[in-house]
Amino acid sequence: MAEYGIHHVISNFSKPSIFEVIGHDNLASSLRAAFLHLFKVLAENNPMRYGLIYRNFDELYVLVDSIFQYLHLRLKGGLFTETFYSLKRIPDPRSLDVSRRKVALWVICAVVYPYLQRQLEEVYKNMRDDHSRGSLASKGTKNKLALLYLKVYPVYHFLSETSVLCYYLAYALGKSSYHSPLMHLTSTTLTHLTMIDLSDDAWKQHIPKEQHKKLSNTIWNLVNVFIGGITLSISVGSFLTQFLNWWYSREGNTTNLTPLPVPPPPKKWPCDIPVDICFICKKSRSNDTALASSGFVFCYPCIFKYVEVNRECPITGYKSSLNQLIKLYHQE
Ligand SMILES: [Zn+2]
Repeated sequence: MAEYGIHHVISNFSKPSIFEVIGHDNLASSLRAAFLHLFKVLAENNPMRYGLIYRNFDELYVLVDSIFQYLHLRLKGGLFTETFYSLKRIPDPRSLDVSRRKVALWVICAVVYPYLQRQLEEVYKNMRDDHSRGSLASKGTKNKLALLYLKVYPVYHFLSETSVLCYYLAYALGKSSYHSPLMHLTSTTLTHLTMIDLSDDAWKQHIPKEQHKKLSNTIWNLVNVFIGGITLSISVGSFLTQFLNWWYSREGNTTNLTPLPVPPPPKKWPCDIPVDICFICKKSRSNDTALASSGFVFCYPCIFKYVEVNRECPITGYKSSLNQLIKLYHQE
């Protein structure tokens, strides 16, 4: 029932260049990395307030991004990164119809699928670490499955990356109108925005008339303004980041951008245990070892076993790996 047509002439659609297409693909991952960095800095400065968000960043980002992209697709006809590059989606070259189901499918392909890929890679890295330490040596169904996964994942990863590259090549050479396997799967192509798309009432052409009545025009207008506001903030934010990057590199300070300022120590000690006692064994610390993700110090055997099993800091809960253990040597 939610089907409707976008009234354009097919011959008016212009195919975006391969650079625009790669540009918008890269922008999506850069934005996620920027937000992750922002919450990392916030969590380091205020673990009580932002620690929980940072620990569950991936899941929260997928949730917020899914809602945002769903509304963006419905009101603007494209993902945020696509409209940023003045592009929009053509649902199907033969019908030009789009349903809410199709928009949901687009969100799954653009937001949920990359999230699942990141999770699969994370699992692979953890298993590879376990394997290199010999933890998967004993015979058991779980370990056998883990070893199988270690063999299968690189093949899947290789095929997935190769197919993306092949699609880019075919698109650049004009052999395919789809620039990625997922766009092919959903029969979706991209085109440039028109003057009508850039007008304030552009959302009306993407939302069918009977749905205007269900949710009054005022509410649709407000949602449109809200989405526009977020888009503008991200655009201005991206510009400022680029500008600051240029400003610092201009003065030859490029190396100073990477080391972060050292965050202040917590004002209140976050547990009841005295500073010189190990949080895990509750005894006087031996073989002092700092965990780089949080800065707290434990006994080496205690924190090694804890991080190996839980992969997080026992006090702050920050994601941690064995590579982040730093042995401390005191001069007597
Ligand atoms: Zn200990």
